[in-house]
Amino acid sequence: MTTIQHLIHGELTDGHGGHSADVFNPASGEAVRRVALADVATVQQAIDSAKQAFPAWRNTPAAKRAQVMFRFKQLLEQHEDAIAKLISEEHGKTLEDAAGELKRGIENVEYACAAPEILKGEYTRNVGPNIDAWSDFQPVGVVAGITPFNFPAMVPLWMYPLAIVCGNCFILKPSERDPSSTLYIAQLLHEAGLPNGVLNVVHGDKTAVDALIQAPEVKALSFVGSTPIAEYIYAEGTKRGKRVQALGGAKNHAVLMPDADLDNAVSALMGAAYGSCGERCMAISVAVCVGDQIADALVERIVPQIKALKIGAGTQCGLDMGPLVTAAAKGKVTGYIDAGVAAGAELVVDGRGLSVTGSENGFFLGGTLFDRVTADMSIYTDEIFGPVLCIVRVDSLEAAMQLINDHEYGNGTCIFTRDGEAARLFCDEIEVGMVGVNVPLPVPVAYHSFGGWKRSLFGDLHAYGPDGVRFYTRRKSITQRWPQRKSHEAAQFAFPSNS
Ligand code: NAD
Repeated sequence: MTTIQHLIHGELTDGHGGHSADVFNPASGEAVRRVALADVATVQQAIDSAKQAFPAWRNTPAAKRAQVMFRFKQLLEQHEDAIAKLISEEHGKTLEDAAGELKRGIENVEYACAAPEILKGEYTRNVGPNIDAWSDFQPVGVVAGITPFNFPAMVPLWMYPLAIVCGNCFILKPSERDPSSTLYIAQLLHEAGLPNGVLNVVHGDKTAVDALIQAPEVKALSFVGSTPIAEYIYAEGTKRGKRVQALGGAKNHAVLMPDADLDNAVSALMGAAYGSCGERCMAISVAVCVGDQIADALVERIVPQIKALKIGAGTQCGLDMGPLVTAAAKGKVTGYIDAGVAAGAELVVDGRGLSVTGSENGFFLGGTLFDRVTADMSIYTDEIFGPVLCIVRVDSLEAAMQLINDHEYGNGTCIFTRDGEAARLFCDEIEVGMVGVNVPLPVPVAYHSFGGWKRSLFGDLHAYGPDGVRFYTRRKSITQRWPQRKSHEAAQFAFPSNS
């Protein structure tokens, strides 16, 4: 069985320590590869490499750094099929979905190609007599990213293309559950001409993450994953004076108003709740129906579609849904379905016990629907991260908004309506970072920024786009005066001003 290696200073290596873990194909339920797990010494080797590469990379013109990204984009497009296959093999999502995540990742590379424009800085002539001022956006230094299993291509691409074009050197610690596509993509960036050490990839678990947090050379940490780990990384990183942006979990609600275009809302909900087996931080897991009439109509239309979901190994074409990522993930989701039943929610479609012919040992669950869910049930309070949609019935938009605003998470939400006034109120007053109006997955495009509110994000700046540039650069403000020849000015003891 092959072992997925670290990529340090442009070379593949097993690292030190000799630890490794199984990587599964969730459709067959079999371990198909091993992944090396970095110890502290291996992480330090990556940090040393990044530190060594930083002075030259920092001084490489932004236009040259961007040229590497142009070539990288081309290579990513050329290798789309191979990357999608690797994602699907280890994550389980369908090939089409895997290709979709790669395309959204490539959009971030395209944004990074604009580095010379993005990094131009700000300039003001004559802020005082013969005094000019400007702000320069300089790299932070050695920075690190820790990423989750559910988007092994896209989420790393949210981080390092931008960090690197801004002049930083990057250490990536991908999820140990599906690391092959992430590594493959990092190798393509080297093929595109990235100097050794500018991007290092270390696989691993808590040991590797803690080594990155504790290393004084690492000046900033970007994290995407579950809320408990996001909170831990934010607390431990900021305690050590690092910049941290830590994106966490979610419970995303879709509000269905009585005037919603139901056919389109049902299609949107199907994709957003069951796409990628519900393993998306922007998945819709709660449908909040305003009034019993729309709730009853939703149940009537969505149930046959849930029962008709085409489920199988993601590497086959034309499917709607693959398996969950691990046996543990399947066990966790099943446990939540059991808990929902025990709490008294109405189980309308039960996905437990699904068997896929030819993939009997895969980690499959069918689409599941609960109705009459209440805010005290664990299927409502917790992020299930599986193909489970909960319907909550309320009697007004205000009650729907109160429910959402009271939830601990605030990643994404959406409203389905034809009423502009209701939509505007919703956008204005909902306490969620990313909002859709008749758009179920309002994932911002690469030239905006991505982030939730409340316990879905710890830190001040969102990921990628303009906030990403701010995160990966330090502002330096320079004020410059060249005294006119032979002029002499007396000392001033009052604080200088223009008035
Ligand atoms: P996870 O928190 O288990 O793992 C994320 C990363 O943290 C991995 O690289 C993992 O190796 C590392 N890690 C795990 N346990 C650790 C520990 N004890 N100490 C230090 N590091 C540790 O998350 P996951 O299961 O890989 O991903 C799913 C979660 O990610 C969901 O909660 C989902 O909502 C969230 N997510 C959020 C966003 C977002 O943008 N807000 C995007 C994608 C996924």
